[in-house]
Amino acid sequence: MTVRRPSNPSGTTGRPEILAMLGSCLTVIAIIAIVTFLLIREHAGTQQAATRGATTIAQLIDADVLRTVELYDLTLQGLIAASQRDDLKQVSPQIRHLALFDRSTTARFKGDILLLDAHGKVLADSSRIDPLPANFADRDDFLAHATHPDSGMFISKPFKSRCECEDNGRWRISFSRRISSSSGEFLGVATASMRLGYFDQLFKSLDIGEGGILSIISDDGVLLAQKPHLETDPIGRSFADRPNVQRILRERNGSFDSTSSIDQQQRLYTFSRVGNLPLTVIVALSGNDVFAAWKRTALVISGATGVLCIGLLWLTGLLCRELRLRHLAEQELAQLAATDALTGVANRRMLDQTLRHEWFRAQRSGKPLSLLMIDADHFKAFNDQHGHQAGDDALRVLAKVIGENVRRPADLVARYGGEEFSVVLAETDSAGAHQIAEHIRQAVELLPFEAGVAAPVTVSIGISTWTTATNGSLEQLLFAADKALYKAKDSGRNRVVVGL
Ligand code: GH3
Ligand code: MG
Ligand code: MG
Repeated sequence: MTVRRPSNPSGTTGRPEILAMLGSCLTVIAIIAIVTFLLIREHAGTQQAATRGATTIAQLIDADVLRTVELYDLTLQGLIAASQRDDLKQVSPQIRHLALFDRSTTARFKGDILLLDAHGKVLADSSRIDPLPANFADRDDFLAHATHPDSGMFISKPFKSRCECEDNGRWRISFSRRISSSSGEFLGVATASMRLGYFDQLFKSLDIGEGGILSIISDDGVLLAQKPHLETDPIGRSFADRPNVQRILRERNGSFDSTSSIDQQQRLYTFSRVGNLPLTVIVALSGNDVFAAWKRTALVISGATGVLCIGLLWLTGLLCRELRLRHLAEQELAQLAATDALTGVANRRMLDQTLRHEWFRAQRSGKPLSLLMIDADHFKAFNDQHGHQAGDDALRVLAKVIGENVRRPADLVARYGGEEFSVVLAETDSAGAHQIAEHIRQAVELLPFEAGVAAPVTVSIGISTWTTATNGSLEQLLFAADKALYKAKDSGRNRVVVGL
């Protein structure tokens, strides 16, 4: 049975929900993108501010270390200059000692200051007027000066003091310079050692947060100082194999974000080379310290954004559900408005609408359009005999039989009124319409009816067809079908008559 649904006047079946959901999803994506962008920018700003702070700390350390090394260098230069004065060879050892180590008093954290001859033998010692017999010809700084005339000031690797003093076993480094004759001949080495406690003192005054680390390394990756110590006894050890240290030594100045290979903590490394010295200051700030405030902000903003987005999607979901329900209700109403309540086929209103629509379609396409008018024979008598209830049942059966014989989706079965039905057959010529009408008539004739009924129900059918050849109006088509039906009635009923 075919009941054509009324067309949707807005033409937006299901679209408002899709548009609302799409709009919401795009809004949510936009909100998330904006919030993510702002958080990333804030993160970069925090990192930049931390890097600036760390750079300032590194510069402070640089300046202090440079000044201190300069003092040691002045001490060495003073020692060398005094050692080369001939007039000092005649004075008493006390006066000579005073003159040699005149400038050494200003150097901070100083250890021994020694004057070595070309064979490494100690000629003068700042701590005693008569130097103890000792030879340092095997020390790396001595060897460096002996073999390289232009090695400038040499900074040794950290070593542990071996003096018989309270400083015994403490870490030191030494600064040394070569003593050359006017012709460049190697005459010996002036060397001054410094306690590495100097760096601890320097670091003590700087606050870099709980997880932060301050370090000084030499160009060959050996650690000179660290606060706090990351590993046990790290001073004097080479860390040149660590990726972060390799990068720092390669880049010399700068900053980067990386994970420590020792405690796996995220740190912001800022590093700077101390003047032209083979030393690098590393300020490593803990990521937890630097980004703690940012993390709190990010958590609050992400949470609020999440709630906002979920709320928006939830409201959109509700709106979509309402729109869908409204759409279904509208469809149901449209269906009801187009359906005949008794038989379930299309009603008269739908018939008029469809007929007009198919009529104009036929005009455009030039294809034939047929109309069947079906009327139950002697139905008044049927009603009188079996009652109206049975009459209604018979009408339902008739509608069902007609529907079963009209199968194409474009065709329409409608109740014209009373015991009359109409069938609109699009793109169907007179012969095709006659065939369908005959099937309907025969099917009704063969219907099993209740026992005791004298005359079973039959139908008479009038057919009219519009073609480009006849080219009549819609009213003429209706009139012709009606006329054909009356002709069928007049000529004895239970028959099909094709009108002109
Ligand atoms: P014929 O068409 O063969 O000339 O005779 P008829 O008796 O069918 O024609 P008529 O137009 O005189 O009577 C139509 C009858 O159909 C009148 C009415 O009793 C019956 N009828 C119309 N609508 C309904 C309905 O909805 N239910 C029932 N049970 N009967 C209806
Ligand atoms: Mg009638
Ligand atoms: Mg009738």
